[in-house]
Amino acid sequence: LTPADQQLVDAILAAGAAQRRALAKVITLLESTRPDHQTRAQQVLDTLLPHSGKAIRIGISGVPGAGKSTFIEALGLWLIQQGKRVAVLAVDPSSTISGGSILGDKTRMEQLCQREEAFIRPSPSAGSLGGVAEKTREAMLVCEAAGYDVVIIETVGVGQSETAVAGMVDMFCLLQLPNAGDDLQAIKKGIVEMADMVIINKADIDPRATRVAQAQWKKALHFVRPASPHWTPPVITLSALHKEGISEFWAQVDKFCAALQSSGEFAARRQRQAVDWMWSMIDAGLRQYFHRHPTIRASLPEISQAVAEGRTTPGAAAWRLLAVLQHN
Ligand code: GDP
Repeated sequence: LTPADQQLVDAILAAGAAQRRALAKVITLLESTRPDHQTRAQQVLDTLLPHSGKAIRIGISGVPGAGKSTFIEALGLWLIQQGKRVAVLAVDPSSTISGGSILGDKTRMEQLCQREEAFIRPSPSAGSLGGVAEKTREAMLVCEAAGYDVVIIETVGVGQSETAVAGMVDMFCLLQLPNAGDDLQAIKKGIVEMADMVIINKADIDPRATRVAQAQWKKALHFVRPASPHWTPPVITLSALHKEGISEFWAQVDKFCAALQSSGEFAARRQRQAVDWMWSMIDAGLRQYFHRHPTIRASLPEISQAVAEGRTTPGAAAWRLLAVLQHN
């Protein structure tokens, strides 16, 4: 570590006025695509890694408008009242697809932003979803080293981002609106299987519809294999706007952690997630290595053409290209 990077590490480990700034700096370094930044960031991360792992990691997913930021702000403020420090990170796939952003455009969590006990960071915006998710996962570890007790990772209920977030948190929660039909959509996408809890928000608008939705969700969950053998995902209702139901939500989080910790699954999940991440990094790395390989780059157009015209089979072409890697 350079003296400057050692200073960053020290500032992160010593909770103080300089901590949040150091945290933001390290995350910026992690998100940078410059190779020298990457090298430094990985060294800093390695140094911080032994200090990570102590937070509760919670994923919150929901469609735009479900009330994620309202809920996370209410939860964050409540947690601070309980003496905890909270970090909020985001995985926003729209930032990579359209260059725009679903999660980040509006002014969000204004009250929570102002609290010293909170650290809020928008989604990294460069690269593939895999890249964005990996950066967020690394940022989460840095926040943990900084001593945040709870890390909340927010994502939008579209596409593969939910799978990525479920793969980096201890507890994955779906934030839903109380209208029928949503549940079926989630089942189609295979999201329900990943849920450790379903939260029906905006219960204040129509209590009857909320109860119907709750019953529907319970039924839907009954038909899927739960993510954990030691936990039946509860379906709770709340009003993020009126800050009602927040302590009930947290009571479920506590119950969940207790159930999974006593069965050993809590640690096992994290271990499995870490190994899975290694493999997704290997997959991404191999892909990059493949595409950058000069021999492959040179022969790819012609071989693709041959496949398109039926002069060779896709399988044979793939093996010919992959064989190039073996000889190097
Ligand atoms: P996000 O896109 O999922 O982050 O949703 P927001 O938190 O921005 O909320 C979208 C809109 O729903 C905002 O106008 C909120 O004020 C409103 N909202 C959020 N939670 C509730 C709630 O519990 N009850 C009511 N009535 N409105 C809510």
